[in-house]
Amino acid sequence: PQEQVLSVQLVPFDTTRKLLLSRDITQLDRVQTVHRDFIANVSHELRTPLTVVGGFIETMIDMPDLEEATRRQQLQLMYDQTQRMQRLVDDLLTLSRLENGQQMKEEEVDVPQLMRLMHDEAVGLSQGRHEVRIGTLAPARLIGNHDELHSAFGNLVSNAIRYTPQGGVITINWVVDNEQPVFSVQDTGIGVAPEHVPRLTERFYRVDRGRSRSTGGTGLGLAIVKHILQRHQAQLAVKSRLGEGSEFSVRFPPHRLLAD
Ligand code: ADP
Repeated sequence: PQEQVLSVQLVPFDTTRKLLLSRDITQLDRVQTVHRDFIANVSHELRTPLTVVGGFIETMIDMPDLEEATRRQQLQLMYDQTQRMQRLVDDLLTLSRLENGQQMKEEEVDVPQLMRLMHDEAVGLSQGRHEVRIGTLAPARLIGNHDELHSAFGNLVSNAIRYTPQGGVITINWVVDNEQPVFSVQDTGIGVAPEHVPRLTERFYRVDRGRSRSTGGTGLGLAIVKHILQRHQAQLAVKSRLGEGSEFSVRFPPHRLLAD
């Protein structure tokens, strides 16, 4: 399949300028529309679990003598919904921190060690439903932020698991290609049709809303990945074929490679 490089550049918008040209007004309109859509999306995402939890609480008030099994089942469903809200709020806070544009603390990141940690996390997340492999593991370190890279790579790996049916294979790789460090995750999952690829890093953009939700998705994972990669001047590329699988690659600029 054709590889598509996702733009991870933010459109610059200078809010301090007094004089607005017509181009800037179009830009301002666009920013305001994106902002409105975002608030509508967040409200909608929170309303659904709140309605479910509210409904069960009402039933429990009205029917105090519910059978123990039913009561337990309802409590479990309420708990699942609160977990969903928790994930959403956590992702929103992460996004907002990243968008605040605070300077990133740069450090030496031992990527092979991070890969082994992620492999163990992936095995836990998959619960034995997939084969999780480490493909190539170049002994190379990177200059960047450990926690942010853990979060970006972790999001890509968890997507690979969530969008790959049982029995599939997930492979994580770390290579240095012509002085350029590349992290990639391959899966044998459901794949993404080419027309959806350019929009994947938009907040709340999902190809299949039901599938994203049922596997615990917030719709914000790739938006978070995009921000983290921007801060590392890295590029995200996607190669995918519907029904066969995907490969998400992150290419870092050579200057981030730590020479020994
Ligand atoms: P979500 O929480 O919905 O997974 P993301 O921002 O992480 O949100 O991803 C956006 C969408 O991109 C997903 O809803 C899914 O449709 C698609 N997607 C991401 N990763 C994969 C993958 N490895 N295979 C297939 N589709 C994917």
